[in-house]
Amino acid sequence: LWQRCLTHIETRLPEKDVNLWLRPLEADFNEGGLDLMAPNEVVRDQVERELRTPIANALSEMGELPKRIRVLVGGGQRTSAPATAEPAAAPSATRHNLDGRYTFETFVQGKSNQIARAAAEQAADPDNVAYNPLLIYGGVGLGKTHLMQSVGNRLLANQPQAKVAYVRSEHFVNEMVTAIRHNRMDRFKGHYRSLDALLIDDIQFFAGKDRSQEEFFHTFNSLLESNQRIVITCDRFPKEVEGLEDRLKSRFSWGLSVAVEPPELETRVAIMLSKADYHGITLPQEVAFFIAKRVRSNVRDLEGALHRLKASAQITGTPITVDFAKQALHDMLAVYDRLVTLENIQRTVAEYYKMRLTDLLGKKRTRSIARPRQLAMALAKELTNHSLPEIGQGFGGRDHTTVLHACRKVKELRETDARVDEDYANLSRILTS
Ligand code: ADP
Ligand code: MG
Repeated sequence: LWQRCLTHIETRLPEKDVNLWLRPLEADFNEGGLDLMAPNEVVRDQVERELRTPIANALSEMGELPKRIRVLVGGGQRTSAPATAEPAAAPSATRHNLDGRYTFETFVQGKSNQIARAAAEQAADPDNVAYNPLLIYGGVGLGKTHLMQSVGNRLLANQPQAKVAYVRSEHFVNEMVTAIRHNRMDRFKGHYRSLDALLIDDIQFFAGKDRSQEEFFHTFNSLLESNQRIVITCDRFPKEVEGLEDRLKSRFSWGLSVAVEPPELETRVAIMLSKADYHGITLPQEVAFFIAKRVRSNVRDLEGALHRLKASAQITGTPITVDFAKQALHDMLAVYDRLVTLENIQRTVAEYYKMRLTDLLGKKRTRSIARPRQLAMALAKELTNHSLPEIGQGFGGRDHTTVLHACRKVKELRETDARVDEDYANLSRILTS
């Protein structure tokens, strides 16, 4: 069955993806479920992140959709030992774990990530260690890992001999546990301290793991002292991570901390178009807009949508249009559409400006009331699926031209008035996160 599934998938994914990520998997169909055994975490993560949907789609098209699909580390017949017993205890200096697709060239820049990107490019400059460590923080799927790996890939492009290591924090912890168990701490320390650049992803996983933090702290200091590069990511500002030692937090603040924000609509569209291009998918701009308008908070979901579109288009042999996307992504978009409602927007805006909902929806036209109302209408246009007349109706029975005017006014204000722009961005974030 797995072989058939592979053959099926082969027709729609790039061959190199299939060879690189899917061939190494061992499949085990049991009790209506499917366990996929990956040889290591890198493969597991990639499959989990990018390939789970194509696999599920393929099986479903074959009429064989399992009840659940799990992606695990470890070979079925080879060992029953837990994942931590992998050869992780012998970190090899040459394995940098970087994914070659994550580069600055494939990273789409927008207002939301501009600063983070510029900082990352600096961190990848071989002649200049301006800020060290560089900390990139922000929500899930906003490109932290992509940027961090871009630093590594750029460093290696300039200095192929450089010892660069990309490690997820969980992996660092596992590796250390194994090293302790096998009395190999010296080797572990030696490995990390000999690096030219250490990229350590998702340090929120260190929370509560004291021994790991301590080890990391020492590694960290030793690298910093000799001006080796460190890039760190975290899913929020580290000060807000409970269970993370203060001395670590304060060390992070020696360098530069930059945030990645959810991308604005235009950036989301640009990302979709660029990914489509990369995967050889013909994606009309209006379809990109249609999807990006709805899938707002997470770039990973944009990619997921794209891959599903591609698969459906290939099976049915139809070109990708807005109507086609509506159908193919029906369930996924429904989830997003439900997220933000007119009521939700109205309540949030009223709360934000500390005004009464009745005023927001009422007839008063004083600036302090009309402005938030316009913002709320513009947000409704951007964040929901509702038409202009529907939005007008929902805002105390107003005409659709009033809504249109509000949208234009807000667009203009956002370009000229930083306060309005900031309010809009804040509200949009509150509503979509
Ligand atoms: P994070 O580490 O912040 O959770 P990732 O770096 O894993 O997010 O990004 C999730 C996916 O979205 C990746 O495939 C990445 O390539 C893509 N992505 C995110 N931001 C951008 C961007 N600005 N340009 C291109 N791709 C992006
Ligand atoms: Mg990440």
